[in-house]
Amino acid sequence: MLFADTEGRILECNERAVEAYGVPHDRLVGRALADLRTPEARRHLQEDLDHLRTAGALTFETEHRRADGRHFPVEASVRLIEDAGHAYLLKIIRDISERKVHEARIHELAYFDPVTRLPNRDLFLDRLTQAAAMAQRDGAPLTVMLMGLADFRRLAGPLGEASSQALLVEAAARLRRCVRAEDSVARLEGDEFALLLHADARGAERVAMQLLLRFADPFTAGGQRLALECDLGIACHPDDGRSPEDLLRAARVALAPALTEKGSAYQFHTPQLGLAARRRIEIETCLRDALARGELCLHYQPQIEITSGRVAGVEALMRWRHADWGWVPPGEFIPVGEDCGLIDALGDWALETALTQLADWRAQGLELRMAVNLSAAQLRAPDLPDDIRHRLARHAVPPEALEIEITESVTMRDINQARTRLRAMTDTGVHLAIDDFGTGYSSLASMKHVRVDLLKIDMSFVAGLPEDAENAAITAAIIAMAEALGARTLAEGVETAGQLAWLRAHGCHLAQGWHFARAMPADDIAAFCRERLSTLHSHNEWRPQ
Ligand code: C2E
Ligand code: CA
Ligand code: CA
Repeated sequence: MLFADTEGRILECNERAVEAYGVPHDRLVGRALADLRTPEARRHLQEDLDHLRTAGALTFETEHRRADGRHFPVEASVRLIEDAGHAYLLKIIRDISERKVHEARIHELAYFDPVTRLPNRDLFLDRLTQAAAMAQRDGAPLTVMLMGLADFRRLAGPLGEASSQALLVEAAARLRRCVRAEDSVARLEGDEFALLLHADARGAERVAMQLLLRFADPFTAGGQRLALECDLGIACHPDDGRSPEDLLRAARVALAPALTEKGSAYQFHTPQLGLAARRRIEIETCLRDALARGELCLHYQPQIEITSGRVAGVEALMRWRHADWGWVPPGEFIPVGEDCGLIDALGDWALETALTQLADWRAQGLELRMAVNLSAAQLRAPDLPDDIRHRLARHAVPPEALEIEITESVTMRDINQARTRLRAMTDTGVHLAIDDFGTGYSSLASMKHVRVDLLKIDMSFVAGLPEDAENAAITAAIIAMAEALGARTLAEGVETAGQLAWLRAHGCHLAQGWHFARAMPADDIAAFCRERLSTLHSHNEWRPQ
């Protein structure tokens, strides 16, 4: 507490004030209140005094200085009091250092990512909003860049929490080194970082190239050296968007294809990319209603046993006929369904429809095996094995008549969880096929303890047969590998007699492709099987030469 005249000269003070400023009582008395302030805070003195004169009382925050030179924040309440015709100032000061630390901490928690100490999404959006307004006003260049680390999610599990956090911290440090002080780097979530650059497309490209260079150096985490793929999506104001939301969306659209492709790359947003993204949104919207509207159906593609020529089974393939667009290729709508979480419902429907059909065929005496594709999301459902068991029982279909196809890359991604679930499924007798085999980065070693019944050789290898030596070598290796594993092989996309002859000579068990038949509606399958049987009988064309 300080007591002063209206000129601000200290007349009296208490013990607390002496302690706070570290100045003896007799030297504090007689000094000017203004002397207690830091030079910076002194600049607001006149302003505060004017305020006080008009209001009679004033509470404000400022900075004071101790005798030892240390600054500390204070909250000051000053009151003008009158006594016997004289006016005085009564000033109560409170050291608010602790509260300030607390406030700073709250600010830090609210606006910074705790792992990398980079600004978080909220702060980034705040800065982007300001920058976009400025760019709009005076045409200053502005670019938004999103960075994704495609490998991070795969590595995070095996690395453990501490090491994967160290990886993020290192990534943040490299990012910071590539931008200027006035630019911003933020961590939006997971492995997604964002950059706000006060630069045009050219400048942004320079930063992108520098980033790729820096990220090409291996990272060290958990005592290991790791290569991290780094992809960038870039959007420029105002061509790719004017609002923060539009700019971020455009950058995300540009990033998406780079993320799925192998290798590090940067990609600018283009109108074509925007179009593709809009199409995806359209598909997503319509796909939500497709089931209810009965626009989906399954077609079935025969799988032929190569030595006998018999139809061993069929693969159920989803088909979507949109009321206005007509047929939408599964390669287009299935990935959308996977991204937006619709695949669970679609997969559920496909499994149920396929089993109903299978039971129907079996009742007619057609002993076929039904192959059904399962996507990663479905594999993640803990009750999948039980669910399949119940369905089989309900349809009175023996488990061996059902084959679940899982693509190689899916199996390998969350291999530990997948392994237990796959195992529970194969234990019931359901067959397991690995789809698109040879295209993933798997080693079958990680699949040990799971019984794989079938390896489906990807059609990209079959396409080159028999001339392409490399494809032939890979296909032969897959067949040998399957044999060692006790699994059978199926060649996908067989289109020619030449391919078939090569496959037969190299001991491949099954074939599927347009050489035999395209996927067809259920009603055509029975006819196809009957026709096939009768040709086999009359020509004996399948006897190996
Ligand atoms: P996939 O499982 O690899 O299916 C084989 C694809 O190759 C099918 O394409 C099939 O029509 C096509 N194909 C068959 N024989 C030949 C041939 O001789 N030559 C050529 N060029 N192509 C041939 P489709 O039906 O367009 O399906 C594409 C992908 O969509 C499938 O690839 C599968 O990954 C996915 N898919 C289809 N139905 C389902 C489903 O019910 N659930 C899930 N999760 N995915 C599905
Ligand atoms: Ca398949
Ligand atoms: Ca396939």
